[in-house]
Amino acid sequence: MSVRVRIAPSPTGNLHIGTARTAVFNWLFARHQGGTFVLRIEDTDLERSRPEYTQNILDGLTWLGLTWDEGPTFQTKRMDLYRQKVQQLLDQGLAYRAYDTPEELNAIREAQKAQGQAPRYDNRHRDLTPEQEAAYIAEGRKPVIRFKIDDEREIAWQDLVRGTVTWKGRDLGGDMVIARAADADDIGQPLYNFVVVVDDIDMQISHVIRGEDHIGNTPKQILLYEALGATVPQFGHTPLILNQAGAKLSKRDGVTSISDFQKMGYTAEALANYMTLLGWSPPEGMNEIFSLEEAAQHFSFERVNKAGAKFDWDKLNWINSQYLHHLPVEQLTDLLIPYWQSAGYELDPVGDRAWLEQLSALIAPSLVRLEDAVAMTRYLFVADVGFTDAAANQLKLPGVGTALQSILTGLKTTELTPDTAQSLIQQGVEAAKVKKGVVMKSLRAALTGDLQGPELVPSWLLLNQHQIDQPRLRQALAVAESSS
Ligand code: GLU
Repeated sequence: MSVRVRIAPSPTGNLHIGTARTAVFNWLFARHQGGTFVLRIEDTDLERSRPEYTQNILDGLTWLGLTWDEGPTFQTKRMDLYRQKVQQLLDQGLAYRAYDTPEELNAIREAQKAQGQAPRYDNRHRDLTPEQEAAYIAEGRKPVIRFKIDDEREIAWQDLVRGTVTWKGRDLGGDMVIARAADADDIGQPLYNFVVVVDDIDMQISHVIRGEDHIGNTPKQILLYEALGATVPQFGHTPLILNQAGAKLSKRDGVTSISDFQKMGYTAEALANYMTLLGWSPPEGMNEIFSLEEAAQHFSFERVNKAGAKFDWDKLNWINSQYLHHLPVEQLTDLLIPYWQSAGYELDPVGDRAWLEQLSALIAPSLVRLEDAVAMTRYLFVADVGFTDAAANQLKLPGVGTALQSILTGLKTTELTPDTAQSLIQQGVEAAKVKKGVVMKSLRAALTGDLQGPELVPSWLLLNQHQIDQPRLRQALAVAESSS
């Protein structure tokens, strides 16, 4: 049997990390098995589905490297097939039209609630006589189509993650609606649990791998497979992603969509790596930093945990920094340029290329996210960086003005290199008769406006290449002199 899996997102929001993680597991399994990964867009909720969400989902999956082999297929384009299958169940007597009004259904629920029972449809329209039907139609009632569920059935499957799962027919809420209300001689819009099954049969899906939140749909869907005369696929329900409080990660937890993670400067490789670890443990001896291809070689559901996976920002940050620290400088520069540009920093991506690469190499060891580069390198891009209070206080210390003046004077006749930079610092030390540490700290304050930041001499060289170092030293001298 060839392995065929699918990811079936609903375009009612941007690509969510939970859906993306389900896509990762499907992709890994497909690649491990040499199978096929299918993309299906479940856009039957016409009110909430939007083309821009579909685009966001396609872009996000592509960015993460979760390439699909077939699709995207859109459910809204397949309504004829679904209606045909509803008709088939009606013809076989496995489904029927139910004419209950919303008020009647509500009354059933209220009565059940009053008796402390779980709400369920009591199947009262399962065996209407033709006369009863005719009377309801004459009243103008619009029927839904319900699929018969046998209360006595026990439904069991071997879940790839959870082992044996069993469910009782009577716990499924009574005969289920598979198509919305329509005129009595028509079929209304077929609903989620039904169309998923029709599609999974039609697309010959061998393994349905999806989030644990779908587990309650599976018994109903198994009954539909049987009714439609199809082989039941294997199911695997992957653990949910939880917030720190142990609840399902939701929009209220802030960043949850893949495009937000992307904007913040997580790399696709790091995010895919982290999402894989959210629920899957690599085999012993395998490094925690791996590509999707490497994970695919070792992937199996035996190593997928049953328990929910807590989202851990520290871990994600650590993984991202590992990727950023090891990226070739050309690639890192390509990734950073858009962040600098969107911060409004003026740069010429072609003319400044060598300078930008030196800068990327300088900050690479301190980057956790690409976005960090914006604040970290501000002193290199803006003309008037300003001085923090700590920097200004440093500049006002005794001897600092003298040291900086000596460096500035020397600079005017010296070509700055790593070696001449050291000699100029030494000249400053001698001119002001202060410790080298004081000069270094003051020079940093003068050149960058702060006491912390990337390495001093390479920063100075970069500023020098753009002729910003002398004006900065002059500004700093004005601050230093203001104290005397
Ligand atoms: N469309 C469903 C969702 O976005 C997925 C359905 C499934 O995987 O069976 O949650």
